[in-house]
Amino acid sequence: MTPDRITPSLRRELVLLTAWMFFMMVIGTINNSTVLFLFIGLLVYVVWNLYNLNQLSKWLANPSKQTPDVIGIWDEVYYQLYQLYRRQRKSRRKLTSILNRFQKSTQALPYATIILNTLNEIEWFNPAASKMFDLHTGIDIGQRIDNLIRAPKFVNYLLKKDFKKPLKFPVNQKKIILNITPYGNGQYLISARDITALSQLDDMRRDFISNASHELRTPLTVMSGYIEFLQHKADEKTKVPLENIHQQTVRMNRIITELIDLAKLESSANVDYTNIVDIKTILNDIYTEACSLDQNRHHIELIIEDESQGNDATTNLHGSYEELRMAFSNLLTNAIRYTPEGKDIKLFSTTHKTGISIGVKDSGVGINYEHIPRLTERFYRVDEGRSREQGGTGLGLAIVKHVLDRHDATLHILSEPGKGSTFCCEFPLSHIE
Ligand code: ADP
Repeated sequence: MTPDRITPSLRRELVLLTAWMFFMMVIGTINNSTVLFLFIGLLVYVVWNLYNLNQLSKWLANPSKQTPDVIGIWDEVYYQLYQLYRRQRKSRRKLTSILNRFQKSTQALPYATIILNTLNEIEWFNPAASKMFDLHTGIDIGQRIDNLIRAPKFVNYLLKKDFKKPLKFPVNQKKIILNITPYGNGQYLISARDITALSQLDDMRRDFISNASHELRTPLTVMSGYIEFLQHKADEKTKVPLENIHQQTVRMNRIITELIDLAKLESSANVDYTNIVDIKTILNDIYTEACSLDQNRHHIELIIEDESQGNDATTNLHGSYEELRMAFSNLLTNAIRYTPEGKDIKLFSTTHKTGISIGVKDSGVGINYEHIPRLTERFYRVDEGRSREQGGTGLGLAIVKHVLDRHDATLHILSEPGKGSTFCCEFPLSHIE
């Protein structure tokens, strides 16, 4: 032990011990038996320390401010231990009050909150959770949650352990949105909210748009028929206005068709992933259709690559052919629409280790970065005039986003004004084979 590591109290103790042993040695010398007295001195010292140890052990079993009357190093030991005990008691009190406050606030929360342990057993829940999932404090604490909430969607979600997206599912005639957040040592915090009213409102909005679009379609078809009839009989004066009316009815028709497509995407059941879509076939179909519509105004190229090592036959995607075709075709139509004549457009598919990227790269007008996050909103256009002029509806990218959401895919947009844009759909590995 180096001198600087010797505490003052130990130094005092050593001085005390030396003085005591010296005293015993003097008595021993007077009595002519120094060794015996030194031995007795040591023995007394050991017994005294054992006695103090026993006192300490009793005090530790029930610590209090009242410490035993001791001298020497023991006084210091009691002082330090008591300080430690006080600090610990203070932080325990603080922690208890935080916990109490947390429990009180979660009790008052309108959101259902449940805490699960590593085995998915319920450790705690608030009154809102009890009401929403019909849980009972006395019986259900310690039960596995999937024994109590048996909705297959919830059970799958829990077992899959992929909690990036919230889960919407029906419980007791209510529609619930639920989030699971892992925390601590393998525990989970579930928070759930009743969205029945919101969902009904959303259904009403969707039904309204769908019904209105269907209702508008019939008179529009009649009007288009009459306009075509009148165009045949048109003279020089009426030719131009009739052509304008014709173009507007075509545009309205396109808007109505896309609104109906969107409503269908929103209301139809989940995609049947047992369907297999051959990537080469779907991209070839879109490419051929786009080339014939484009009539050689652009250099359109189809590139299918496989960057994944040791896996050269990944050409199938699980999902709906019609929906995917609609999405990719929208991207290619946009590229044609927003790329000046004579420039390049690439329709590409790249298989890599983490999935497959399918998209369109153009060398067109590009998009300023502040518009990019809003492009998939309905009727959002960067340049309304240009979109209209090119026959755009403002719904194409909203459709793409919906289709990709239904296929667990994401849309990445890279663009530079004046240089071009890349719209890339990233499909996860789980959706390809
Ligand atoms: P629109 O029918 O107007 O093309 P979209 O929803 O397909 O509607 O696209 C929304 C907007 O995004 C477009 O109005 C356009 O401004 C912009 N946009 C889409 N694709 C491209 C592209 N390839 N190049 C430049 N701008 C694009």
